[in-house]
Amino acid sequence: MISQLIADARKIIFKIGSNTLAGSDGKINYFFLDEFAEQTAALMKKGKQIVIVSSGAQIAGLSAMDKWARKKDIHYRQALCAVGQVQLMKAWQQAFDENGFHIAQILLTREDFSDTNRTLNMRNTLFTLVDEGIIPIINENDTVSVEEIKIGDNDTLAANSAILWSADLLILFSDIDGLYDKNPKEFPQAELVEEVRDIDSVRKNITIGAANNFGTGGIATKLDAAQLALSYGIPTILTNGGSPRSVEALAAGAQKGTVFLA
Ligand code: ADP
Repeated sequence: MISQLIADARKIIFKIGSNTLAGSDGKINYFFLDEFAEQTAALMKKGKQIVIVSSGAQIAGLSAMDKWARKKDIHYRQALCAVGQVQLMKAWQQAFDENGFHIAQILLTREDFSDTNRTLNMRNTLFTLVDEGIIPIINENDTVSVEEIKIGDNDTLAANSAILWSADLLILFSDIDGLYDKNPKEFPQAELVEEVRDIDSVRKNITIGAANNFGTGGIATKLDAAQLALSYGIPTILTNGGSPRSVEALAAGAQKGTVFLA
């Protein structure tokens, strides 16, 4: 099912969560980025169009400014993301450069999606970049997004971007194999739900546990994102980005995940 969805899709959004981008030391995992870029580049060479939604500005910021680690003040958090966003893009740029691709940074806020002029401009820019073989890397613009106006989680940002770009498929890469009946971090016996056709009923039947250290949305926002994408006919896969060569394995049908279908 998963490999078929990937084979059939031409325009795919990859969303990568903070915990997938971070190594066990809480800093940016450069090995992951390099391997992920290499696999993405291979898919593009086979004719796929890829847009990435990448979290991780805060983690990258902490890697560079560890003396700010304990500063919880909102302005320091935003400043940390401003520092980290540069580091994050530098890491992606190096990783894709080695594979012969240019990247482009797109920073968005919730307001951008509710303004017709802005959505039109965003859409045109995305199409132009992708047509030119450049990989857009989207993140929330944390500098301008104070709490009240935040999209708040990149799962929703990825779903909105998928709709904006009319993607064929949305893949959410997290640090778990998919949606479980309960939090697998707390319950090792938790069972993977491999296919979801009715998100409302699944919400009633599973237990949602806490998100991770750096995760902002947790599983609840992944369900919201999948529901939003599905309402526009875009199937969504939730899978583990941290397992070895996850993009390749997924395309080959060798990696599990949860598929959300209409
Ligand atoms: P990301 O950084 O990839 O966006 P999050 O930390 O926001 O990830 O959300 C993923 C986490 O949600 C998992 O690591 C897991 O611990 C937690 N979680 C809670 N309940 C569930 C559940 N029912 N199924 C899967 N994961 C769950």
